[in-house]
Amino acid sequence: MAEKGKAAVFSGPGKPFEIQELPLPEVAPDGILVKNTAAVICGSDLHVWRNDSGRPWDRDPVIMGHEFTGVVAKLGRNVTADSLRRPLREGDRVAFPFFFPCHNCYWCVRGEHHSCPYRSRPNFQGVVKYPFADGGYSEYFYLQPGAYKFKVPDELPDNSIPPVNCALAQVLFGLEKVRVHFGDTVVIQGAGGLGIYATAVARDMGASQVIVIDGQLNRLELATRCGATSTVDMSAYKTPEERVARVKELTGGIGADVVVEVVGVAAATLEGLDMVRINGKYLDIGNISGGRLDMPANKVISGQIQWTGVAHYNPWIIESALQFLARTKDTYPLSNVVSDTFPLEKINEAFEFAEWQGKSSGSRAQRVVLNP
Ligand SMILES: [Zn+2]
Ligand SMILES: [Zn+2]
Repeated sequence: MAEKGKAAVFSGPGKPFEIQELPLPEVAPDGILVKNTAAVICGSDLHVWRNDSGRPWDRDPVIMGHEFTGVVAKLGRNVTADSLRRPLREGDRVAFPFFFPCHNCYWCVRGEHHSCPYRSRPNFQGVVKYPFADGGYSEYFYLQPGAYKFKVPDELPDNSIPPVNCALAQVLFGLEKVRVHFGDTVVIQGAGGLGIYATAVARDMGASQVIVIDGQLNRLELATRCGATSTVDMSAYKTPEERVARVKELTGGIGADVVVEVVGVAAATLEGLDMVRINGKYLDIGNISGGRLDMPANKVISGQIQWTGVAHYNPWIIESALQFLARTKDTYPLSNVVSDTFPLEKINEAFEFAEWQGKSSGSRAQRVVLNP
């Protein structure tokens, strides 16, 4: 095996990624070296690349990329199975959470791995600190001892796997957490990758109506093929008031049981809260870069809204995501969520392309993928 692997190193917003050859880690008896096969450019990677938070970059260079998958390149000598005790061999495809809970804190001992405050994002520790194979935009990734890993079912096509550990797992966990009931009406704000997955998952959970809102027709068309019962085109319904009125109209004047925000713009939350029925639920996922909201303090109280924020997920979600994709692969064209692929060497071009796609009304990209 090669002693070194290529990685795209990021040194801060406004600077191009640089391809570097970095030494591979020594594989511990309980560790696994993964050869990355596909890594997504996620909305949150674009937030960092553009510096949406506005904070100065005062960190060591990092290997970005958290939404990715690969095959087992080298098993530590004690590893013979995945986290569900199924045999695991070199060459097998694996899916895994991109963050590692500490297993040793107030939250972890309660099984709340998603909220462990000490959970690490190894890809963000910087390439000055060993091991270097610690991100998706890299040929190799090191699954440290104790990491969860799940063998990918043979029937899944390669291009449906990369978004499993971020986009799909995130909406699945969120919808599980707020509990969509059989017969519910669900509104999805945003038809990017997360919105498309949320649409299919909500339908699969038994929602009788799934209303998807977006400004791009091609995305709304994909949403319809993935289970949306109605769509709201933002170029036809131009203002928040018009869109809220449209949702009310589609729900018999009541509003939705569950509204899901996967836009990543603070104003969407303000708008979405007005679409929730009295005593309904609002699931906030996209607004991770911290835009500000200005609203009456009693808005949530008067509407008796259960407002839930989620970030990350529990490990079993990866397995249920894989099972969901396998079970629905002939029902929903979810592998279309991955739309364009680039080699790792073209990472700068790929980011520019993903950025342009996000803004262009004629675009078709849901998620741009790098093949390391
Ligand atoms: Zn992501
Ligand atoms: Zn912990």
